[in-house]
Amino acid sequence: MSGPVEHAGAEPSPAVLAPFERRAGRALMLGHVHPDADVLGTLLALGLALEDRGWQVAYGGPHPAPAPLGFLPGIERYRRLTAIEGAFDVAVLTDCPNPQRTEGLIDQARRAAAVVVNVDHHPDNRRYGHVNWIDVTASATGEMVHELLAALGCALTPAIATNLFTAIHTDTGSFRYSNVTARTFRIAAALVAAGARPALVSEWLYERRAADALRWLGVALARVEVSEDGRIAWLALPAGAVPAGFVESEELVNYPRSVASVRVACLFRELDGQVKVSLRGKGDVDVQRVAAQFGGGGHPNAAGCTVGGPLAEATRGVLAAVRAAIAAAPGATERPPA
Ligand code: AMP
Ligand code: MN
Ligand code: MN
Repeated sequence: MSGPVEHAGAEPSPAVLAPFERRAGRALMLGHVHPDADVLGTLLALGLALEDRGWQVAYGGPHPAPAPLGFLPGIERYRRLTAIEGAFDVAVLTDCPNPQRTEGLIDQARRAAAVVVNVDHHPDNRRYGHVNWIDVTASATGEMVHELLAALGCALTPAIATNLFTAIHTDTGSFRYSNVTARTFRIAAALVAAGARPALVSEWLYERRAADALRWLGVALARVEVSEDGRIAWLALPAGAVPAGFVESEELVNYPRSVASVRVACLFRELDGQVKVSLRGKGDVDVQRVAAQFGGGGHPNAAGCTVGGPLAEATRGVLAAVRAAIAAAPGATERPPA
């Protein structure tokens, strides 16, 4: 290919479509670390659509798909990869803002594939592909892949629709966050018309807790702290305080976020000597900029980073940065704590 292609529109440009327009080929669908429903749902949706057209498709990434997403149609095809073997016409990454989030697999993908296509909605995307389609107005890459399949004329099977609907459902917090637009609902409606079942997806995502999960939720929530001015709420979980599978099956950071006065919510999770930090805002503080100070990234209202331990020190350092960001935010003085 000639130089890298960059496209920012809501619909794919001809250059974004070109790699998929051949009659059949070999595609690698490459996921990011700790894959979530947006990356898995979009890789599976696009891969299944290509398979319907006779393509051979491999799916995988640095970490396995989490058990709670075992209902996504085709998920059994998604493999944990330590190396990329074989040659591909196209390698596709979705929802992956930077090469580090593939733990080195992107470098192998570049050698193994003629074209690397980067489809993402993160503002801090590093444009590491031959083709980079970055639409920061999309609530989820699920919206973008819907538009891609529509432009390619691919049929939306119930399996494809369920994958894309789940991607959008999770990245919008069940259609509740500020990233939801009229387009989000238009696409969601099309996906339901094509066979996605909202009640089933909700049940699969939120009503399959293990019997002891509510007890662990009690243990975790007992650790929530709120700053004196009410603007920051956080939850610091020492290693082993609750089972890892439990933390991974819950969006725990949403609980401190739900306090009325809170501008920024944080989850600090100690894991293997490091601390995984999740940050959530409500529109007035750009938490992606806070995460970036610690080498992380994300979206203005949902970001993360990993910092060195111990837990108490990591918590202190990130909370100081959050406090500074709140003080510097426009409206910080007009909006007293509730
Ligand atoms: P999480 O809090 O893990 O659900 O992540 C929220 C958002 O922040 C997602 O869009 C992630 O892509 C991003 N994010 C989380 N952790 C990191 C990290 N260590 N580096 C870069 N981005 C991250
Ligand atoms: Mn993701
Ligand atoms: Mn996403």
